[in-house]
Parts: sequence; structure tokens; C-alpha cells
Amino acid sequence: MILSAHLEQARRELASQPAARLEAEILMAHALGTARSFLYANPDLELPQPRSESFHSLVKRRARGEPIAYLTGLREFWSLSLRVTPEVLIPRPETELLVETALQCIPRDARLRVADLGTGSGAIALALATERPACRVHATELSPGALAVARENARALGQRAVRFHLGGWCEPLAGWFHVILSNPPYVREDDPHLAQGDCRFEPRTALTPGKDALAAIRAIASQARERLAAGGWLLLEHGSQQAAEVRDILELNGFAAVETRRDLAGLERVTLGRWQDKSNPPHAGPNGRPVGC
Ligand code: GLN
Repeated sequence: MILSAHLEQARRELASQPAARLEAEILMAHALGTARSFLYANPDLELPQPRSESFHSLVKRRARGEPIAYLTGLREFWSLSLRVTPEVLIPRPETELLVETALQCIPRDARLRVADLGTGSGAIALALATERPACRVHATELSPGALAVARENARALGQRAVRFHLGGWCEPLAGWFHVILSNPPYVREDDPHLAQGDCRFEPRTALTPGKDALAAIRAIASQARERLAAGGWLLLEHGSQQAAEVRDILELNGFAAVETRRDLAGLERVTLGRWQDKSNPPHAGPNGRPVGC
């Protein structure tokens, strides 16, 4: 059977997915180890049997719901090609807002210390390190399996400015930080969203902290107080209905200038606040002045 016929058969098998044809092409390109453009240039190619078998087994797994990113082992985030496995959350486009907002807090050549808590695949830490090469980024992660994936991503990107630490939130960190950020688990454990789509296959602990959807955000807000330099920023991703509660948590923890940013879908997605307690050492910018956001 020729390539185009295999693709058409897969498209029918994946008909319940909104992007069935595109998904079939992505899986075919992965099975052949080529770019998608190869498929357009070679529709009449006879597929060798091992290739067609591996393609159809990927299609079957996709039809059962397995995320495309786990089947190909890859996901793009902030123009970086990242390796992903079922040990890590699949980076989401809305998380790019967290990176974008953090970049507004970090002047281009500033040599600041940044911490990404619960780094998973390393997506956020690696995007920031790429954009702000003068910064030192520390990334923490409780899951050894996830940390191995993050380290592998750093190696593959040749990124040496990120230091990885095994442990929960701020616990493995030492010293003061100018920016602390996180995309923590924030979905309630009984939320039906967890039984849908890619979430069914992702690590539960990356998605939900349990009965209290804000438990991780509360823990981070309280731990960050002990690690932020005066004038430093805490930035958190959260659910689209959680912004008001997250602002309250930051304010109750003594953060100032608390505000929420909306993602491309117009949903309240990232809340940030500034730590101004003068008992911590000051947050000095490149010219000695505190940096702004
Ligand atoms: N935004 C993700 C989702 O809704 C959840 C990510 C997270 O909990 N940090 O699937």
C-alpha cells in the first residue's frame, strides 16, 4: 500500500479527533523519521512493512487517546523542541504567558537569579535561560523521572545556565532570588477535566494537588517569602477561575503590586506580586537600581 493510502486509512481511524489528517501526518512523519514535507513530496511511496506497522501501531494508540506528544516524544514550547515522556506534563501554549510576563520582569542583560518551581520537562526554565543568557536559572522538581527529562532537554539544547535540584518547590534552593515562578498543579482532584483528553495520561501530581486546588499555590506563596530578594517577583500560573483567590493569597502573604494577566484566549491565567519586605536583601538591577516589571 502506498503512503497516501496509509494516511487516508489513519485519518478515518482518527476521525473522532478534530485534527485527524494532521495527526495522521505527524505520526507518519515520526514513523518514517522525516519531516512532514516529505509526505507531500512522496505520496506514491510504497511503505516498507516495518514502517507501516510502526505507523499503524502509533495510530491505534492515538485512537485510544494517548497524547500525540507522548507518541512522538516531542513538543514545541517557546520555539524550543522539547522531549516529553509520560513522566512530565505536556507544556501548554498558555504557559508561554508565564514566560512572557517573567521576561518583562528581567531586563535584557540583567544577571538575575531565577527559580522555576516544579519544572517538569524544564520548559519554563529553558525558555527563560534561552531569552536571558546572563541569568542563572535554578529549576526544582520533586519527581526524579521528570528531573531526568528536564536535564536531558537542557543537554540537548546545550543549555548550561540552568541548575536542576531534586525536591519540592523552594525546599532544595539556597540563597536569594529575583524572580520565582511556577506552573504548579492547580486542578481540583475531582474536576472532570482530568478525565478528558491528554490529562488522562499525564502525571496526576503535575495536574492536581488534591481536594484543595490552591494547596500548591499557597505553599509556594509562603515558601517564596523566604527566598525572594526585596523587590523580587513571584509569578504563578493558575486556573482561569482562580485569579481572585490567587491575588488574595499573594496579598495575605504580604506581596504588593499584585495583578493578573490574561492569556491569548482572554482568560485570567498568570498572577504576579512583588516582595517588598526590606528585611530581605535588596533586588538590585544591573546598574544597582531595583529592576521594574
Ligand atoms: N492548564 C492545565 C490543564 O488545564 C493544567 C496545568 C496545571 O495544572 N498546572 O490541563
